[in-house]
Amino acid sequence: MLIDTHSHINHERLADSLAEIIKNLDTGRVGQVICPSYSLESSRTSLAVAKHPRVYAGLGIHPENATEWNAETENFLRIHLNETKVVAVGEIGLDYHYGTDKKGLQHDVCIRQMELAREFNLPVIFHVRDAWEDFFELVKNHRDLIVRGVVHCFEGDSEIAKTLLDLGLYISVTGLITFKHRDALREAVKLIPLDRLMVETDAPYLSPEPHRGELNRPEFVSLVADKVAELKCMTPVEIDEATTKTAYTFFNKMQKI
Ligand SMILES: [Zn+2]
Ligand SMILES: [Zn+2]
Repeated sequence: MLIDTHSHINHERLADSLAEIIKNLDTGRVGQVICPSYSLESSRTSLAVAKHPRVYAGLGIHPENATEWNAETENFLRIHLNETKVVAVGEIGLDYHYGTDKKGLQHDVCIRQMELAREFNLPVIFHVRDAWEDFFELVKNHRDLIVRGVVHCFEGDSEIAKTLLDLGLYISVTGLITFKHRDALREAVKLIPLDRLMVETDAPYLSPEPHRGELNRPEFVSLVADKVAELKCMTPVEIDEATTKTAYTFFNKMQKI
């Protein structure tokens, strides 16, 4: 069984089909799903979907929503991070895709949430886009705050993967590894050891081939795992077992099934 370690099943585009999504988990070899958050509102809805026995939540403010950070948000996280079904802080990080004008704020909001994660002894889910150098610096300067950290939706090359591994981080890959022009990413996947590698859909985005362009859903994580198996010359069963084992080590509050 696989774990879809990053799936926005609380997203408005998926929320209506939640019952069907849960029912279809088995067809995609999916045992459990982690629903991370990107705002205060999505942290609330993540908690709601995590009421389902096979769903867990991550709570946090995405760098694109860094302006949402205030006493109310921090208080909300403080109230809920101890809950049994909350297994991580995230997604948090740096995203300069739409500009660098908020980079100082993103940096501060990321660190505030890393401090909370440390306080609650939780791993963090990092979202990093077009910001590698600053992210490396941030991690180097604040290693003491990281219980365990994963860079989700990894889209870098082998050099970046090596740096992340040297920093002690985990790496999670999506359907991007099935896309045609992503050879550098596929090369990187080959060198990530299985005890640091996890799989995710990042649903509703980034549907893997042959479903590219469709609404993504947790069951499609099996297509990501199949591609990892192909790249590592292993069987899908071996990849399922290895990545699930890694996910249980990383998200250690999860109940094993
Ligand atoms: Zn993300
Ligand atoms: Zn996400």
